[in-house]
Amino acid sequence: MKKLAIIGGGIIGMTLANYLDLKKYTVTLYDNPLGQATKASAGIISPWLSKRRNQRWYRLAKDGAEFYSKLVQDFTLPTSVYQQTGTLILRKDNELTQLAELASERKQQAPAIGDIHLLAAEQVHEKLPLLKKQPALLISGGGKLDGAGYLNSLRQRAANAGVVFHTGNAQIKQKATHWTVTTGANTEEFDAIALCSGAGLPNLLSSLGYQTDIRPQKGQLLVFETDFTRSGHWPVAMLDGESDLIPFDNGRILVGATHENDGKTDLTPTKAAFTHLKEKTLPFLSAQDFFEAYPVSYRIGTRAYTADFAPFFNTLPDTPTAVAASGLGSSGLTTGPYIGFLLAEYFNSGQKNWEDYQKPIETYIREISSL
Ligand SMILES: Cc1cc2nc3c(=O)[nH]c(=O)nc-3n(C[C@H](O)[C@H](O)[C@H](O)COP(=O)(O)OP(=O)(O)OC[C@H]3O[C@@H](n4cnc5c(N)ncnc54)[C@H](O)[C@@H]3O)c2cc1C
Repeated sequence: MKKLAIIGGGIIGMTLANYLDLKKYTVTLYDNPLGQATKASAGIISPWLSKRRNQRWYRLAKDGAEFYSKLVQDFTLPTSVYQQTGTLILRKDNELTQLAELASERKQQAPAIGDIHLLAAEQVHEKLPLLKKQPALLISGGGKLDGAGYLNSLRQRAANAGVVFHTGNAQIKQKATHWTVTTGANTEEFDAIALCSGAGLPNLLSSLGYQTDIRPQKGQLLVFETDFTRSGHWPVAMLDGESDLIPFDNGRILVGATHENDGKTDLTPTKAAFTHLKEKTLPFLSAQDFFEAYPVSYRIGTRAYTADFAPFFNTLPDTPTAVAASGLGSSGLTTGPYIGFLLAEYFNSGQKNWEDYQKPIETYIREISSL
């Protein structure tokens, strides 16, 4: 039996913990949840109509979205955690026709897009009464994930299977034949290590002598507690601009999120974010007093980005006993579970089924002495 440490209990680390073969490994997961992106996230799983040109990223996001059907089955996820209620995409009339054509084209390689419908203004309001009457494109394959709910559900599963959890900031060291992980006064030895540490990865890797291309970005979103009883069944609305509407069960409506490069790892809620999201969202809403009508709270997290906006997940250079994964940016709920699964396959069977999805790891992680 080998000992494996996971540093980071966001969507990658927690999924990895649940797919590891526990007949081969005893697993310990370390997490300092401060600023974690997964629990702050909005929840949109709908990558197919992205305008990004990066083919590797698109392949990963497409396969990641498709992976959700397996994920739901493997972990028996309830609809309160993941639900496929479709995505409404709001654009100007002429853009909608083009988008519908793109969707049909992409559906050939991505059947998970589901049905594609151009909806008239009236139908859109019926589907999602929060929206005023305006045309939209509906793709039925779009889904929504409650990030915090997902982590709770998977943590319970992993704990029942014997995974050990530690809360706190972990430090790592590489020894001749093993790794050590220290939290507070406790140090433990491991045969292998998985660094799934989001925006915290550069700190961990600098202690091993690596420089990492990861930039933190602050994201804020608003959570409204409304009295709409059917909200759990409503589709997600991707508005034309920076803001989206994500309705969850029991009247909980998320509006967001901001992308604040200057905010870095700051976790303070700001009035400016509220004002910005209100300005971007209000033109699409039926009720013009929505922002004042319900109790509201903030969620704030730190996204991790690379210079080319692409994620990486691979073994460290010349180090088969350590993997690192980060840089998932604003689509990490979509790609994260699949990345966790692929990393587990590597530890379970030695297979690296990920070459098609990313550039070599040296693009993002370099030994400081080689710079
Ligand atoms: C406001 C917001 C909205 C978003 N909305 C969406 C969306 O709608 N759809 C979508 O697909 N994606 C969305 N994202 C992006 C998505 O949430 C992230 O890309 C994804 O959750 C990243 O997962 P991760 O596991 O890599 O990192 P994280 O979830 O950040 O987890 C990493 C964990 O490692 C911990 N850690 C770091 N260093 C250490 C250390 N030394 N010791 C112990 N623990 C450590 C961190 O504290 C954290 O808990 C959103 C993000 C934000 C912030």
